[in-house]
Amino acid sequence: MKVPVLYREQLSTGYSSLPIVGMGTKPLGEIRPQMFSVKSKEGREMGNRKSINGYEGIGKFREKVGLKPYSIDSGDTVASITVNNKTYFGVNSTITKESQKASKALRQRWLREIEWVPPKRTAPKHLGHAQSLAHAEAHSLIRAFERQGSLPKTVTMYVDRKTCNICRGELPALLKRLGIDELEVFSGGTTKPIIIKATK
Ligand SMILES: [Zn+2]
Repeated sequence: MKVPVLYREQLSTGYSSLPIVGMGTKPLGEIRPQMFSVKSKEGREMGNRKSINGYEGIGKFREKVGLKPYSIDSGDTVASITVNNKTYFGVNSTITKESQKASKALRQRWLREIEWVPPKRTAPKHLGHAQSLAHAEAHSLIRAFERQGSLPKTVTMYVDRKTCNICRGELPALLKRLGIDELEVFSGGTTKPIIIKATK
């Protein structure tokens, strides 16, 4: 037996999604769990709302600075953190030729600032050995730190592209230098964050 149902569809472009309500049919057996499911985990609901707001903020930033909306094939990534009610956006250094040049001094300064070992086995000798410094995640953290002077022990970050393994491996050393114990990262449109902890 098939019954009409309303469905919500997410028209996803990666970082933002447009909820579309449509009408379709489904076997009755399939809709039962949906009808009776109660979102009892308030924490999860809160997390969803929180991350959606975060991704929307990034979308607005892209619009403001003239970047195209996030797409998985494009070469640009935007990250944001909010500290003392101020939001700091970071972009990957290769987003434009100009940005690569402009942020090179910053990256070179921070290459020397950070105590990389551990988690790295050997200290990086040049920027190619610490590629996370060229990624949006580190850029937003460093910008916030340089403007605020210090950062809280726990920080929440939003990134439109999924946080890569280089960042996962290298951010612990940066976090330690910034005085952050724990970084909660919502990335790639997911509503479930990953937690990156500072090097001990
Ligand atoms: Zn990365």
